[in-house]
Amino acid sequence: MPLPKIDLPTYDFTIPSNGKVIKVRPFTVKEEKLLLLAIESKIASDIISTVKQVINNCIQDEEVDVEKLPFFDIDYLFIFLRAKSVGETITVNMICNNVLEDGELCNHAFETQADVSNVELLKNDDVSNDIKLGPASGVKMRYPNYGIMRKLEELPDIDKKTHIIVSSIDFVYDKSGMHSYKDYTVDELKEFVEGLTEVNYKKLEEYVDKFPTIVGKIEADCPKCGFHHDVRYTEFYDFFI
Ligand SMILES: [Zn+2]
Repeated sequence: MPLPKIDLPTYDFTIPSNGKVIKVRPFTVKEEKLLLLAIESKIASDIISTVKQVINNCIQDEEVDVEKLPFFDIDYLFIFLRAKSVGETITVNMICNNVLEDGELCNHAFETQADVSNVELLKNDDVSNDIKLGPASGVKMRYPNYGIMRKLEELPDIDKKTHIIVSSIDFVYDKSGMHSYKDYTVDELKEFVEGLTEVNYKKLEEYVDKFPTIVGKIEADCPKCGFHHDVRYTEFYDFFI
């Protein structure tokens, strides 16, 4: 007789981009190991496929499609699941950067406990996804999914911005109608973006510069000089290791 399966707990999770409440379960020990191995490998394609696979396993609602969710939904869910699976508190090494009266840095090294679930999704409500480029023409933008965004983060800075813009185009429209990105190659879309005037390019750039971001917060007092540290961070995957 096989051993009984112990039910995993489920939690309600609100998808940040659409407000939908879904059921999720925490990572299992095996999934935890797979994630750790992938993140330690620093190979983007491994991290992407493992994170997508594990997140997919954890989502209990069948109609949710990981491929269709914006990248920040996955990041946010990853942080949520990690906190539920491994624990909300982690130990962080800090170095005090307070400038003392003699002009020297305190430099005291100390450990503090950080709550990884203490994060905020910062959204810019003044950003429209409908960007006018001329009297009857423009671009409808969308958020790239997790896989696309993680891969683009690896690109050198000079190429990155244009590629993120290209990956954020949903439709290009003019008097002749709506043209879906699905009907064009990446090169064609890139040519379109690079053929814009500086002014119009900047409008698209503003959209991607104002993507929602997740910000975590660590607060700690230096035990030596008492200086209060209030640190904001955006690199969440590092905490996994
Ligand atoms: Zn100090």
